[in-house]
Amino acid sequence: MFKNLTNKLINTLKNIKNRGRLTKKNIQKTLRDIRISLLEADVSLNVIKKIIKDVEKKSLGIKINQSFTPGQELINILKNELIKIMGNKNKKLRILKKNITSIMLIGSHGSGKTTSLGKLAYFLKKKNKKILLASTDIYRPAANKQLKTLSLQANVDIFEYNKNITPLNIAINALSYAKKKFYDILLLDTAGRTHTDIYMMKEVKEIHNIISPKETLFVIDAMTGQDAFNISKKFNDVLPITGIILTKLDGDSRGGVALSVKYITGKPIKFIGIGEKIHDLEEFHPDRIVSRILGMGDMLSIIEEIKEKVDIIKKNKKGNKKNNFDLNDFLVQIKNVQKTNKIKNLFNKLPQNMQTNKSNSFDNSVLKKAEAIINSMTKEEKINTKIIKRSRKKRIADGSGTKIQEVNRVIKQYDIIKKMLKKINKNGINSFISKIKNFTPNNFFK
Ligand code: GDP
Repeated sequence: MFKNLTNKLINTLKNIKNRGRLTKKNIQKTLRDIRISLLEADVSLNVIKKIIKDVEKKSLGIKINQSFTPGQELINILKNELIKIMGNKNKKLRILKKNITSIMLIGSHGSGKTTSLGKLAYFLKKKNKKILLASTDIYRPAANKQLKTLSLQANVDIFEYNKNITPLNIAINALSYAKKKFYDILLLDTAGRTHTDIYMMKEVKEIHNIISPKETLFVIDAMTGQDAFNISKKFNDVLPITGIILTKLDGDSRGGVALSVKYITGKPIKFIGIGEKIHDLEEFHPDRIVSRILGMGDMLSIIEEIKEKVDIIKKNKKGNKKNNFDLNDFLVQIKNVQKTNKIKNLFNKLPQNMQTNKSNSFDNSVLKKAEAIINSMTKEEKINTKIIKRSRKKRIADGSGTKIQEVNRVIKQYDIIKKMLKKINKNGINSFISKIKNFTPNNFFK
């Protein structure tokens, strides 16, 4: 997902890492690179212009956070801009509590409407809603059959109708049937249409007017490319769209469509399609997607987490009047990790090119061993690992039921963390981030 754009931005932003300060000159070069990246990713030109203008304005003269490099500061500004465009929060579907809620899906041919309708039915069925599906697509004989299959998969009902009925009448009849039978939700599929087809656009508008759906969801394929601008604009002009479903984000799609469509219509992306199966639908989270677009995984949230930890350690140090990160602190960190399995989460947040498959097989038992080893040490040993020579190591290994090699490993890991923390204090967070590439649960704790 968003791989192309992600990789491009990673390369672009690499150029300004480790360069003292943002200057007008190096911003210009980087902004130009970002512009090209976004263009190549099919983000519409108008959107790019706005992003670049705002990021430039916000970058100049800004006080750079001590812990970040100028490059990271720029990522932060860019990220905030993109989040602003995408909308800060996930917008939920509006489902009425008492009356029936009609939801209508519209969009171009093959954008994934029918599939998304089935997925939505499956999604809403899990929320214990009584759901009726109906298709107004009389033009494609297979459409109703496809919907029938989906209704069986989602275990919901489908509205049956006789031949020779108009799409408008199907919609009217389906709605009155749904009301009569006390359905909670009517999910209405419409035929795919080209946005320039006046007749078909008129038809969908008529259906919309009659049904007055609570939600009119515009379905768009993430592979649409630059056409996304005109298509979204036209559908949005003709109908009061309430939200967007962005499909096929599992493919090698160019993530730019997400930015464009939100910007052009001003309507929230509510769901993303991430596969062909009935369960391949996710609620859209703007901030997560933006982080991915930026190629930083959830790098910024990792940075925030690390900063928080560093602050806590600093605070503890002050409180304890200690001037060192010792094995007691290391033990606290290990316990935290066990409790929340945070390291694992941390690694899931890294950009994919920085993850290893092995990281998924991370297990807590190695942490338990490390904990037992530290617990078998004396007070002095915990404060000063240098005194732990061979005979002490043997005693610790025996005491913790481990081997000397495992004791060595824990001490080595502790030394690495200690060095990293020193670097964070000295050079800012960036030195830590560069180290984190080699820091996977498996190679670190095993
Ligand atoms: P419609 O003409 O808009 O109703 O489009 P369909 O629902 O028939 O979907 C067109 C094709 O796209 C079908 O082959 C679907 O299986 C496929 N499709 C729909 N959504 C997704 C998605 O999120 N990911 C992938 N990979 N394929 C999808």
